[in-house]
Amino acid sequence: MFKLFHRIRHHARGTGTMIDFKEQKMQLLDRLERSGYINKIVREAMERLPREDFVPDDVKVSAYEDRPLSIGLGQTISAPHMYGMYSTSLEFQQGKTTKILEIGTGSGYQAALCAEMLRLSGAKGHVYTIERIAELAKRAKDVIKKLGYEDLVTIITGDGTLGYAEEAPYDRILVTAAAPRIPEALLGQLGEGGLMLIPVGEMHGCQTLYKITKTEGTIKQTEISGVAFVPLVGKDGFSV
Ligand code: SAM
Repeated sequence: MFKLFHRIRHHARGTGTMIDFKEQKMQLLDRLERSGYINKIVREAMERLPREDFVPDDVKVSAYEDRPLSIGLGQTISAPHMYGMYSTSLEFQQGKTTKILEIGTGSGYQAALCAEMLRLSGAKGHVYTIERIAELAKRAKDVIKKLGYEDLVTIITGDGTLGYAEEAPYDRILVTAAAPRIPEALLGQLGEGGLMLIPVGEMHGCQTLYKITKTEGTIKQTEISGVAFVPLVGKDGFSV
């Protein structure tokens, strides 16, 4: 028993082999695929990403459990099935340029997943991701650089409720914190034919994930499922 605990602790500190993480990852991806949360391209991208590199040492041992994990500063990396729900909607096409805006960089995992999917699908494009907490933005920059995605991902520190007008319009907008309403700036920065995913609801209660599309200037809003996200805090979000 002691030996097992000792070995896991070594994993948690990144000093052991990666074999157990690999097994845990494959089991998780098999389950997500069976439940329909991920498709072929999302699975392949997730296989390539070391989720353990995006979380602090004390939770690395849980990196392949299907639940959100604390990344410090009161924030979380979402559960793997949630990344599946977001990422299967992206539909990148070979040769086509897709500009993505993410609100809530957090650990940087979703941004890296988008970058890996752009590469795998042979699409062109770039991920702009905004984080309001400077310390998290810095950590995410480090891991994105370490894993070689810095040419595809730009991390901005600021208030994502205002979007990022400098690079608008966007083909995809992924909001990964729960908003009290859909921020006007994000609707304005969504391009023609674009798609936005956004959880809307109470600060710490009932929230619904919506899919928003813009076709010939008309906005369509579809309910996807009930979710539980940390709040989107900002000028057009919750106040603290
Ligand atoms: N997508 C992230 C990942 O892959 O790790 C997980 C996001 S976490 C659930 C939500 C993040 O949104 C937190 O890091 C939080 O600080 C951030 N956030 C909250 N309000 C924000 C705002 N107005 N602008 C930018 N980031 C915000």
